[in-house]
Amino acid sequence: MRAMVLREFNKPLQQEEVPLPAIGNKDLLIKVQACGVCYTDVKIATGVFSYITLPRIMGHEIAGEVTSWGEGVKNFREGDRVCVYFYLNCGQCENCRGHKENLCLNLRGRIGFHFDGGYAEYVKVPVTHAYKIPESVPIEEAAILADAVATPLHALREQAKVKPGETVAIVGVGGLGIHAVQLARLLGSKVLAIDLDEKKLQAARELGAEAFSGAEEGLTDSILSTTGGKGVDVILDMVGENETFQTSLSFLKAAGRYVIVGYSFEKPFSIFPHTILTKEFVLIGSRASRPRELADVLQWAADKKIKPMVSQSIPLNRANQALERLQRYEIFHRVVLRP
Ligand SMILES: [Zn+2]
Ligand SMILES: [Zn+2]
Repeated sequence: MRAMVLREFNKPLQQEEVPLPAIGNKDLLIKVQACGVCYTDVKIATGVFSYITLPRIMGHEIAGEVTSWGEGVKNFREGDRVCVYFYLNCGQCENCRGHKENLCLNLRGRIGFHFDGGYAEYVKVPVTHAYKIPESVPIEEAAILADAVATPLHALREQAKVKPGETVAIVGVGGLGIHAVQLARLLGSKVLAIDLDEKKLQAARELGAEAFSGAEEGLTDSILSTTGGKGVDVILDMVGENETFQTSLSFLKAAGRYVIVGYSFEKPFSIFPHTILTKEFVLIGSRASRPRELADVLQWAADKKIKPMVSQSIPLNRANQALERLQRYEIFHRVVLRP
């Protein structure tokens, strides 16, 4: 099969002919029809994560058709359209049993990180991690649900526990943030979108957010004024840089929740403990998503309650171009590769 292979960090992926994945008893072989390109792929390709071994086929936002399966697989047929929960959790440990699969104590790894992913014609996936795609959801849109849509749902509903009527600021309305805008609205909150890119802000406005430029001098004052001087209840930080952290805290309400979804390894956050305790800020981490969230966003996409935002669908062999553009922050919404 054809695949785009990461052979060396900081080098372009190479288009290669590689063997089909050998499937086990409880695996599905999926013919990849769409795979989202995530900023995390840029991080993997540039060697940010020390645990990644090479060669590797990246891609964790996968959708395609089932073509074959192991003997232990039931309930799937040839041509079934599926998308993939990419955390290879054990299903047995305390956290898995408590529906915290993203925090599995025996996590084997993640597809597209520790195991080969969707930048290829085929990928193998444990049957337990494949989710059938409702007929009305286009394959490119289904692909990006696993991360770009399920991750902000996890952050908003499970971690921030957003309630109707609350004000949520989404800091960074790129591939994940633009879906956070839709989901926060769906959960009944008032949404403020903050970004440096006017085109992304305009898209957020069209989805019902009040938009603010992160470059604006009086950003804090503008947000305080739109919230009647109180500040926002929840901040969803999709960026994870110290500068955005400092600025965002200046418009977080007392007892507000600050949810970290995005991250950078450039600089750590710095803050005086006193600032946190006097305002009783709640700092919350949010890691990817859980299967229930993937199942929910699949249903909501089918019901047209949310719209997965795919801006471009390009051939697999143009993966390098997509990664370069993503690295330069030139990608609008999400790009998917079509093998
Ligand atoms: Zn991702
Ligand atoms: Zn587990």
